[in-house]
Amino acid sequence: MSETLAPVRRGKLIINGEAVDALSGRTFETRNPATGERITDVAEAGADDVDCAVRAARAAFDGGPWRTMRPAERARLLWRLGDLVLAHADEIARLETLDNGKPIFESRQIDVPMVAGCFHYFSGWATKMAGDTTAVNPAWFTYTLREPLGVLGAILPWNFPMIMVGWKAAPALAAGNTVVIKPAAETPLTAIRIGELALEAGIPPGVFNVVPGRGSVAGEALVRHPLVDKISFTGSTEVGQHIMRTAADTVKKLTLELGGKSPNIVFADADLDAALRGATSAIFYGKGEVCAAGSRLLVEKSIYDDFVSRLAERARKLVPGDPLDPKTRLGALINENQMNHVLGASESGVKEGARLVAGGQRAPVGGRGTFVQATVLADVDNRMRVAQEEIFGPVLSVIPFEGVDDAVAKANDVFYGLASGVWTRDVKKAHLVSRALRAGTVWINMYNFFDPGMPFGGYKGSGFGRDLGAACLDDCTQVKSVWLNLE
Ligand code: NDP
Repeated sequence: MSETLAPVRRGKLIINGEAVDALSGRTFETRNPATGERITDVAEAGADDVDCAVRAARAAFDGGPWRTMRPAERARLLWRLGDLVLAHADEIARLETLDNGKPIFESRQIDVPMVAGCFHYFSGWATKMAGDTTAVNPAWFTYTLREPLGVLGAILPWNFPMIMVGWKAAPALAAGNTVVIKPAAETPLTAIRIGELALEAGIPPGVFNVVPGRGSVAGEALVRHPLVDKISFTGSTEVGQHIMRTAADTVKKLTLELGGKSPNIVFADADLDAALRGATSAIFYGKGEVCAAGSRLLVEKSIYDDFVSRLAERARKLVPGDPLDPKTRLGALINENQMNHVLGASESGVKEGARLVAGGQRAPVGGRGTFVQATVLADVDNRMRVAQEEIFGPVLSVIPFEGVDDAVAKANDVFYGLASGVWTRDVKKAHLVSRALRAGTVWINMYNFFDPGMPFGGYKGSGFGRDLGAACLDDCTQVKSVWLNLE
């Protein structure tokens, strides 16, 4: 892990087209979870810095060139930002892996292309958003304008720090909004770097601002700020609920994506080799620190014993390794708290009566780091805490079921409704179960696939509003009705 020692520049705030220190001069450390080493210091935004960023974003929206620029020009600049992300792919991927502990394979091969893909995909939408003309009365000309909301505040989690910049900023900017991004304090580096690249791409000052800092200070200031029109948040249920209450004071629009406890259903008639691979990557990809993780695996009783033993064998082979090694597929959890939470959750499952068939232990790499073994708990009852609460780590709860109705009932019997999976060769069953599942995404014979063109977001306790796809543009715009009397 010697690459950790290669210096990473001190992180600054990006406000009004400049990289600046915090007004207070305060900084905070960001650390590599795989080694515990300090990576660098980062300027820590206080409420005063957030105010400067919001005022810059407001000025750039109200009087600046972004909203009034020809959409084709906006598209060109966003496309350029996507290209710049790709041009710096290795550098950005390394920053992400150092900051988050995820395997470099994921940062470089999946996350970087996704971020660039977001800027490329949504640049195309800049020229294609349109209102309607409506036949109300021949004596009038009635039409709608689709207009940007104004200043959009994005509060990001630590599990996909750079991807979330693409998900939140790209559609908002394409629609003509300006943005203030508050990355998680655990993982500020890639959002800052993309903010710098936005300036290099020629995105005008004040349009793309980044304010790393504490959620309770910088995040709170962003949510309370009267000049912010909307908050787009991804993170924990508790903070999402708090933001919802706070945002009421200024009647802010919200998109909330609050995690999940997603069911992944394997029917006996599935291609079981594919289902086994899918069940494994559904939970262990991203160390299980994935809101959409297939953390509840429902397996039909007739194949249950055999499937569980093959799954356990596969999990035991997935050994955590140095995140900077391109061969590693299981990295370090974000910090010690999260590691202890994950280990505690798996212990609590065993106490509740689940059978531990793989993992369950800390697995330091080179004697250090917040690594946890790929863990499988079998014979889980859907009422247990490990079946109901988001663990956010590499812990899979396996639950047996009998028939379609039992599978659907168990799948839906949970607070969350973010994602789900169905494995079957029966096309009719696949579609009927997809309709019955109360979740924002259903993957059939695949899991954990994302594309800028496909909307993503929650049903039920997983939140509301959408990221990605044409659907998310509705959440970054508003409709104005215009009535013209022709008489
Ligand atoms: P949080 O919800 O605390 O963090 C998400 C973001 O919200 C961070 O940028 C955080 O800032 C910010 N934030 C925290 N408090 C406030 C506030 N009062 N006002 C505005 N913004 C705020 O998640 P945690 O990091 O604590 O993770 C806890 C659990 O949440 C995980 O174990 C997991 O279960 C779930 N989670 C779900 C995610 C998802 O993808 N849906 C992503 C991350 C976590 P900062 O961290 O800088 O203080």
